[in-house]
Amino acid sequence: MHTSRELFERARKVIPGGVNSPVRACLSVKADPLFIAEGYGSKLRTVDGQECIDFVMSWGPMLLGHCHPAVEAAVVAAVKKGASYGAPCEAEVLLAETLTQMFPAMDLVRMVSSGTEATMSALRLARGVTGRAKVIKFDGCYHGHADAFLAAAGSGVATLGIPGTPGVPPSTAADTIVVPYNNLDATAACFAAHAGQIACVIVEPVAGNMGLVPPAPGFLQGLRDLCTANGALLIFDEVITGLRVAFGGAQTRFGIEPDLTTLGKIIGGGLPVGAYGGKRQYMERIAPCGDVYQAGTLSGNPVAMAAGLATLAALAASDYAALEARTAAFAGELADILRAKGVAVTCNVFASMFTLFFTDCPVTDYDSAKTADRDRYASFYTQMREQGIYLAPSGFECAMVSFAHTEEDFANTLDAARKVTF
Ligand code: PMP
Repeated sequence: MHTSRELFERARKVIPGGVNSPVRACLSVKADPLFIAEGYGSKLRTVDGQECIDFVMSWGPMLLGHCHPAVEAAVVAAVKKGASYGAPCEAEVLLAETLTQMFPAMDLVRMVSSGTEATMSALRLARGVTGRAKVIKFDGCYHGHADAFLAAAGSGVATLGIPGTPGVPPSTAADTIVVPYNNLDATAACFAAHAGQIACVIVEPVAGNMGLVPPAPGFLQGLRDLCTANGALLIFDEVITGLRVAFGGAQTRFGIEPDLTTLGKIIGGGLPVGAYGGKRQYMERIAPCGDVYQAGTLSGNPVAMAAGLATLAALAASDYAALEARTAAFAGELADILRAKGVAVTCNVFASMFTLFFTDCPVTDYDSAKTADRDRYASFYTQMREQGIYLAPSGFECAMVSFAHTEEDFANTLDAARKVTF
């Protein structure tokens, strides 16, 4: 067996930065990545033999914990019947039936293989349906790495986007308008400034990619009303929230119907799956019943569908309210332990997710999130990791709690936090 250090050295020779997704490189916490040998329940074991309590949970999908017995059995049974057919199978019908029953705003759903594909396809559909080009997104929300979403805010409120990375043409970014999260006035101003040009608004109904930022009261309903009034589609990106904030997503919890919904992560139980769905009249525009093209060789993959079905079945029988209460109590205690050390902490909690921002101001959007002290987070991360607590390697992510986390896991995590010094 090789150590994480050895594997990272080899990885850097053959994989850009040694990782297949950038945050994993742990650059913002000034650490090297740990290489994982296995996951079980709430724990990870690294190749170095360290056991860690996992609060990343594959960035959300493992809501049942690693290696849930029913999911594992379903995957093994499915793979024995062939890994991929590129042809229809029963499991994709079952998963589509389940999702359309769970999500109020989903009459039809199309399976894809990642969250990125889901949001990219939903945007194409919104543009196809409306015949318009522009999209409003919110600063600090992440919708995967399709060009249109890799736009950064310019200076000022509600600006035309500028490329967020080399490789995104300015013309593409200019069709993306970036607005501060939780700011309805700026969103309304955008609609006024670009009348008749906005195809859609895309939003994380509970933001999870600038750290956890819940929607302000009235924000989501305000977006619904603005979209309806202006003939634009409202897309809820529920890639994280879809099965975490409620069984049936934020749209169920807040009682607001988006026109399109994107899903990922949990609906594949850890296998590569995404989906987008919505109102029949829009979804019927997708090929082959309509003229908006979208396709995928591995879409509806039988092994991924089996994992998703087993995951949803287990989640349907899980006590979300209890997990939510346990998460709130745990996160609150963790924040209090750090505050007792004289450190400013703003603790945002929603459902089974939370973020500790090292700042003394409320965090309601990306600008306020950015007031958090990154160096302090890096120090917290490193000291917790040394004690076997595996947190996200960035202060602008959520801690993800699962149904597999025990009270003992929480107690051990709190003990570790007590030993941290700043
Ligand atoms: N949307 C949201 C809200 C996400 O959190 C993510 C991933 N973190 C994506 C889209 C992209 O999903 P994927 O990484 O599976 O492409």
